[in-house]
Amino acid sequence: MTDLNSDHLDEGPRDIEPERTTADAAEGESEDQPTRSGFVAILGKPNVGKSTLLNTLLGVKVAPITPKPQTTRRGVRGIYTFEGRQLVFVDTPGLHHKGHSALDDFMRREIRDAVADVDVVLWVVDLRHPPTPEDRAVARMLGSLTPGTRVILVGNKLDAARYPDEALGLYKELFPGAERVLAISALNDPKAVYALRDDLMEALPPAPFYFPPNIRSDQTREQWVAELIRESAMLHLRQELPYAVAVLVVDWRDPEPGVDEPAVITAEIWVEKVGHRRIVIGKAGAMIREIGRTARKQLEIFMDEHIFLELDVVVRPAWREDREALRELGYEL
Ligand code: GDP
Ligand code: MG
Repeated sequence: MTDLNSDHLDEGPRDIEPERTTADAAEGESEDQPTRSGFVAILGKPNVGKSTLLNTLLGVKVAPITPKPQTTRRGVRGIYTFEGRQLVFVDTPGLHHKGHSALDDFMRREIRDAVADVDVVLWVVDLRHPPTPEDRAVARMLGSLTPGTRVILVGNKLDAARYPDEALGLYKELFPGAERVLAISALNDPKAVYALRDDLMEALPPAPFYFPPNIRSDQTREQWVAELIRESAMLHLRQELPYAVAVLVVDWRDPEPGVDEPAVITAEIWVEKVGHRRIVIGKAGAMIREIGRTARKQLEIFMDEHIFLELDVVVRPAWREDREALRELGYEL
């Protein structure tokens, strides 16, 4: 059985962690409270790069990333543990205002929960553009945080920004309470992201670990696989079916130990209409095969074993309004 949280997923970033000195480690610690830990929420409007930042912070793919807004629905936690210190990251669904479905309610609640009682909020903005009304809405939410919550303004997409300084200045004006302002590229400059992570680690308060040190995410492997499949579906479907797709892993069969066979994962792709089902399946099944191929490739990279992925496209009318269906998908209501 493959444990998605096990150490073989852990690549790269730890190798370049600077050595911590004994003096560092000893400061503020006592016999019965030797560890430091805290929660960090990643907040910002859709598509600014929150999931990308989280993945770079962790050095492993946890949250789904696609070029479309609103692809992160769950408040995914990524956990980074290094030498007695643990950062628990909360990735939030992008803040938005228009939707009124049960799923929208769920997402708004997820955001509220994500920022309640965190130690630090990373407010991520897109430096390619000046602030929009959505950024203003996020800034207002920052104003209502528990007093004492540290806010770091993270200007992202520096690599693609024409006037980064000007943009950053405008964002800063929206929330002058930010204790720090920095410009990074979550996609192209991991070093800057690791430096941010080191700073976060330095500032952690003494506290027990919230998760075992070898755990990287609190998603189950089924949830993680479902998100990868949904990411693949959204990439391939482009404009055709923006948000009416959900994925549920219904079966997972690992091979007997020592037997050289693929793990067989069966998942349902939920759509709302018969016409949508036709689009997802594609001509002679071409689309669903592509969706499956992309997802399987990703899975095999991360799991380091062969996978047989079986995808069924199921019509579930109005699943976004159906509390039972949302609960089945793991969006606890
Ligand atoms: P989220 O909705 O805030 O979680 O945003 P995502 O992490 O899903 O990223 C949205 C899009 O922005 C994706 O196409 C990313 O590849 C892209 N992106 C993220 N970070 C950067 C960056 O530093 N530079 C550039 N040029 N693109 C980025
Ligand atoms: Mg996201």
